[in-house]
Amino acid sequence: MIEPDVIIIGGGPAGLAAATEVARSGYTVELVEQRESLGGAIHRQPIEGVAPINQAAGPKARWQALADAFSAARIPVRHASVFLGVDGDGRVLIENRRTGRVEQLCPKAVILATGAVEKVYPRPGWQMAGVSTAGGLQVMMKETGQAPQGRVLLAGSGPLLIAVAAQMARLGNPPVAIIEAGDPVRRIGPALAMLGHAALLREAAGYLSDIYLRRIPWMRGTQFMAIERDGASLQGVVRRRDGSEQRIAVDRIGLHDGIRPNDFGLPNETTEPTSGPLILRAGDCREALGAFAAKADGRRAGRAVVDILSGSRDRAQLDRAIERARTAQATLAALFAPVHGARPLSSLPDETILCRCEGKTVGDLRNLCDRADRLTGREIKHNGRFAMGACQGRFCAANTAALMAEINPDVPAPKPEDLTGRRWPVRPISIAALTGATSQNTENE
Ligand SMILES: Cc1cc2nc3c(=O)[nH]c(=O)nc-3n(C[C@H](O)[C@H](O)[C@H](O)COP(=O)(O)OP(=O)(O)OC[C@H]3O[C@@H](n4cnc5c(N)ncnc54)[C@H](O)[C@@H]3O)c2cc1C
Repeated sequence: MIEPDVIIIGGGPAGLAAATEVARSGYTVELVEQRESLGGAIHRQPIEGVAPINQAAGPKARWQALADAFSAARIPVRHASVFLGVDGDGRVLIENRRTGRVEQLCPKAVILATGAVEKVYPRPGWQMAGVSTAGGLQVMMKETGQAPQGRVLLAGSGPLLIAVAAQMARLGNPPVAIIEAGDPVRRIGPALAMLGHAALLREAAGYLSDIYLRRIPWMRGTQFMAIERDGASLQGVVRRRDGSEQRIAVDRIGLHDGIRPNDFGLPNETTEPTSGPLILRAGDCREALGAFAAKADGRRAGRAVVDILSGSRDRAQLDRAIERARTAQATLAALFAPVHGARPLSSLPDETILCRCEGKTVGDLRNLCDRADRLTGREIKHNGRFAMGACQGRFCAANTAALMAEINPDVPAPKPEDLTGRRWPVRPISIAALTGATSQNTENE
């Protein structure tokens, strides 16, 4: 088998744009995607036999353009294949989930476009069955074409909550309410600044009109405090702007407090030719700026790889598109800033679960941080099992590092990577798959 010049990891807007750009320049390119279909987080495709959900016109047209350009370039795709990392000899390791084997590739360059993950602020009771992320509910809707059943509450902060609410309403089960810590309607300055981002505004207006038509309460300036169990139901405890508390009985809760790069364990960028491949990042895994920036950044990374491999070209136009998206995201962050300010993690009660995989609590971390010898992030992982579970810190490392910094402000603040590490494999892998490692090049190797 002939090795491709460039390997792209991730089939979202950034990965598809990067692959198309590289292919246009005449280099051979292959795309690796862990799922059976392409599209990434925003353009997640339904499972076989299910009709796609009714999407807003803008995202629908953008997906069509991306998918058309990608298929016209006839780029091979390795589906059900998970990027594990780049080993010490510069080999790119991919787990083929269909065969259960690890495949090795030696391309000239790798572009990592692994997207974003949701940020979730821990609250007492968030580990209970029936609680997931709002993005998780959205993925379910996009894949199955059905809204989550029962009474659903969406809570936290950010524009994704209104998108998910509108999609649920269109599928026939609007949420009971949206609990929003910010109050975008009253933030006049950032609201006016959004006028410069017409496509985002049009999309938001579409979602908001669904929310108002279905009379979904959008409780702004309201903190989502805790989740309690009440028989078969869940109770969401919310604190209103005036300090009064209310309990809302529901069957499911979708939490969301923004997104951050899915860069856990990814190798560092290498833009100078060395013994291994060039490594670049693109899209939300480099900087979580949303779909417009992801596409532009994919093209930027694709061109950058071509530049380094062959010669130089002008990328100023793409850099401008990314800068615009950066301004839009900063404006959105100001628009949705929590009315009561960011809640310190140290205000959480001791019994609040911090690491859901290992069941480790805020109190467990406090006890470890109280030690006179001031443990580092790595030592907290090994002594306390934080970030040790199945998710390998994807959900708890950032919160654990932030709480450590709040508890012990006198020592240098740990980074999430101190807990997750930066080495392959980026995902847990079976020993059988590792020992069966096969080379693509030489049958006997
Ligand atoms: C849950 C969720 C829902 C979102 N919904 C919306 C929305 O409705 N509207 C919106 O504007 N923005 C949404 N976003 C923001 C979204 O991240 C960006 O707008 C856009 O999709 C980013 O494009 P990307 O190509 O950088 O990453 P993505 O679109 O996330 O694509 C990354 C791809 O990489 C693959 N991948 C990841 N790790 C590996 C690995 N190790 N090996 C192989 N493949 C891998 C993933 O399966 C995925 O297909 C959402 C984000 C999240 C996390």
